[in-house]
Amino acid sequence: MEIKDFQAWVGNLPADKLKPKKVRKSIDLSLWERLYIFEVLRGLAITSRHFFGNLVGFVVPPNGKKRKIPTIYYPEEKAVMPPAYRGRPVLVANPDGTERCVACGLCEKICPAFAISIIGDERANGDRYPSSYTLDLSRCIYCGYCEEVCPKEAIVMSDEYEGLCASRRRDMLYTKEQLLRPAAQLQKRIDYVRRIYAKCNY
Ligand code: SF4
Ligand code: SF4
Repeated sequence: MEIKDFQAWVGNLPADKLKPKKVRKSIDLSLWERLYIFEVLRGLAITSRHFFGNLVGFVVPPNGKKRKIPTIYYPEEKAVMPPAYRGRPVLVANPDGTERCVACGLCEKICPAFAISIIGDERANGDRYPSSYTLDLSRCIYCGYCEEVCPKEAIVMSDEYEGLCASRRRDMLYTKEQLLRPAAQLQKRIDYVRRIYAKCNY
């Protein structure tokens, strides 16, 4: 599969294909499996097959031929994350650039890591808005509760995976202005969570 085909496939994965697989909690091991050594060797064989397959694909570039392995040459090539991916939580902006958030405080309340701090205010027309919205990414555990609880689809787990770490904690504090993104940029994720929540009868 060529890299762009793989990226397109990942980017367009339908929601039903992203359902978590069933976990087998209780398994009766066969005698063969209980000897372990054969299973260890089998695991090593699988790992080695992938390692050398990828190594050959990396050392010998495709040279005009179709690349058979989906190796991403980061940072020259960027990975397209599937809609189920939970990257940096960001705020959704209205078309006029204002925030959708109404400063209800639900995300701040539910956040298990106490990563969100909001100061609410009121506009002249009576609409509520956050005069300050701070997200401490050094505390965030990317659980997505803030996105789930928001009644306005105003905070969304984006597909941003770059710049999620820093050498100083204060560089991980994001202000409202740094978090605002146009709704169109987040539409794929918004559509995805709508489908998932509809299935879960929320
Ligand atoms: S993703 Fe979870 S930890 Fe991060 S801000 Fe949202 S609720 Fe808090
Ligand atoms: S982001 Fe959503 S849940 Fe959080 S304060 Fe704003 S409207 Fe409420």
